[in-house]
Amino acid sequence: MVAPFRYTASAAEIIFGSGSLSRLAEAVARQGGKRALILSTPHQKQEAERIAASLGPIAAGLFNEAAMHTPVNVTERAMARYSQAGADCVVAIGGGSTIGLSKAIAYRNDAPQIVVATTYAGSEVTPILGQTENGQKSTVRGPGILPEVVIYDPELTLGLPVEISVSSGLNAMAHAVEGLYAEDRNPISSMMAVEGLRALKHALPQIVQAPRDIEARSEALYGSWLCGTVLGTVGMALHHKLCHTLGGSFDLPHAETHAVVLPHSADYNAAAATDALRPAAELFGGSLGRGLYDFAASIGAPLALRDLGMKEADLDRAAEIAARNPHWNPRPIEGKAIRVLLQSAWEGARPR
Ligand code: NAD
Repeated sequence: MVAPFRYTASAAEIIFGSGSLSRLAEAVARQGGKRALILSTPHQKQEAERIAASLGPIAAGLFNEAAMHTPVNVTERAMARYSQAGADCVVAIGGGSTIGLSKAIAYRNDAPQIVVATTYAGSEVTPILGQTENGQKSTVRGPGILPEVVIYDPELTLGLPVEISVSSGLNAMAHAVEGLYAEDRNPISSMMAVEGLRALKHALPQIVQAPRDIEARSEALYGSWLCGTVLGTVGMALHHKLCHTLGGSFDLPHAETHAVVLPHSADYNAAAATDALRPAAELFGGSLGRGLYDFAASIGAPLALRDLGMKEADLDRAAEIAARNPHWNPRPIEGKAIRVLLQSAWEGARPR
């Protein structure tokens, strides 16, 4: 029997395909934009400049200081640039860091956002903004935060380094795994999650072999859109809370932390969510935790928190913080079991 559900489709317009960056100007115009502030990280400054050149007079200015975890002081500088430039919308090119800045601006002034996504993190299709101030990370949700238009052009991902592609791809897969057992899941979110996992499982090994393979890049971006949409649609559980703790309180890198923790969080929940996780377990050979671990190892993903700079002495505190914040999870959050999970993830052990 189909369980009762509520379903609300995302309001965002998605433009997907090789060469779709050429549709940026018309997308800006459809949003009523006449003067766009173009955002990027320092690393993607050249891409941003190329976009500015292609937009001509629509480009009102550039701001190339986007940084991980959306620091509020960077947002304030971007807001000042937005006003000085007389901008009426933002165009962001990049991954979750640049998209975070775009969302932070829109959260403050409701600017329309046209976003060109170039990693697999999925932030572009969620109404969630995480920002940091004085070392504290806080998360806000709201309809104004969701970008109005997302352009996915696989050509722009050809140069995404293999290591970032792998960890970012596993970050996307984590959204899908948690989406499958989400308390508020629905048949559409589950369909998207399974298809997203399938696409990324197929594409990532090919990207490792041939990073400029446009078909594999296209499939990975398609999978990441699906997984990101799941993240934006249903609630997340233990895995995302653990990664939030490890990133927020211990300063571990975002995508790599997701990559390391995923096999262990999936294993923790496997017995409590057998039916919901069945399609994913089948995809990964029966045991989801071990299957994900072997998959991650086969594509050269980081496997151990200790390799990301986590100190063994901090594991007790991490387990305590994670267990302290009660949240829904298919299996109850048991302090001792969470500590065991973190030890395995720290050592990089294969789930048993
Ligand atoms: P990122 O945006 O920090 O990008 C990593 C690096 O790769 C940057 O230097 C970037 O300029 C570069 N890069 C990006 N695309 C490239 C490309 N195609 N070619 C070459 N270089 C490229 O990394 P990320 O993992 O995409 O984002 C992480 C951030 O996003 C974190 O702060 C995380 O909290 C946030 N995030 C938020 C959500 C949400 O829904 N709010 C979801 C996922 C991630």
